[in-house]
Amino acid sequence: MSRATSYHRPGTVEQALALLAVEGNVALAGGTLLNADDDPTPVGMVDLQGLGMTAISVADDRIELGAMVTLQDLRQDGSVPPVVSDAARAELPSTLRTLATVGGTVAVGDPDSVLLAALLVHNAEIHVAGPDGTGGAPLANALSANGPCEGRLITAVSLSIGGTTAHEAAGRTPSDTPIVSATARRTGGLTTVALTGVASTPVLVDPADPTSGLEPTGDFRGSTDYRLHLTSVLTDRALASLGGAS
Ligand SMILES: Cc1cc2nc3c(=O)[nH]c(=O)nc-3n(C[C@H](O)[C@H](O)[C@H](O)COP(=O)(O)OP(=O)(O)OC[C@H]3O[C@@H](n4cnc5c(N)ncnc54)[C@H](O)[C@@H]3O)c2cc1C
Repeated sequence: MSRATSYHRPGTVEQALALLAVEGNVALAGGTLLNADDDPTPVGMVDLQGLGMTAISVADDRIELGAMVTLQDLRQDGSVPPVVSDAARAELPSTLRTLATVGGTVAVGDPDSVLLAALLVHNAEIHVAGPDGTGGAPLANALSANGPCEGRLITAVSLSIGGTTAHEAAGRTPSDTPIVSATARRTGGLTTVALTGVASTPVLVDPADPTSGLEPTGDFRGSTDYRLHLTSVLTDRALASLGGAS
């Protein structure tokens, strides 16, 4: 049964923010999590479809993805960096990719999201609108703040483009959500590595010491020690795949 007690479809960001200020109202993007959630708490749905935010635009060395760009759009737009496009494909089956959005993925901050890891190595910044105005922040900071979207709307995510990338993952099967994955990018002599499956959200780590500070929670898919072992092995493999590229 639907959790929705009311449905709103604002036409502007300002109208959406006014609706989200009402207790019990939540933003509805693709609905893949919100509508599938078995949490019985009733909510008022503030549908973001009327706000646009579906553009993908490239300027200088950055690409901007509107918050309502779907994961399928990321697959199909040739200007999206390859590791981001591949991660969008790995994240969800095609039936859900046509619904799930970039903004929803960032707001959820799933620890196993290979798409978030791909965004992190591309120096993603999120753009938000809130009662206090608009602003931006590095995705890494927003994820570690755990809930930066409270009362705010993510309007876009921008990425730096270019560089060489590599992705390594270990799962129960090749098509399963990875237990741990490592995504690496090298550009201008700078190497960045992002991991999934080792913290409460995907994280950027020191490529030379990737397990430093990590204490992954073990579960039926992998113990703490196994996840730390995978972290070292997969990071080494991803860095080896980058080779001497700069
Ligand atoms: C079968 C299945 C498998 C899944 N597998 C994965 C997976 O492997 N990895 C993964 O990360 N997720 C997974 N999910 C969860 C979900 O599909 C993704 O997190 C998805 O990307 C959410 O996007 P959405 O647009 O559908 O968000 P919605 O379901 O519409 O919203 C999710 C949350 O984000 C908030 N939100 C949405 N857009 C914004 C915005 N612009 N600004 C502020 N807040 C916003 C909503 O209020 C809500 O709290 C899975 C879900 C299902 C049903």
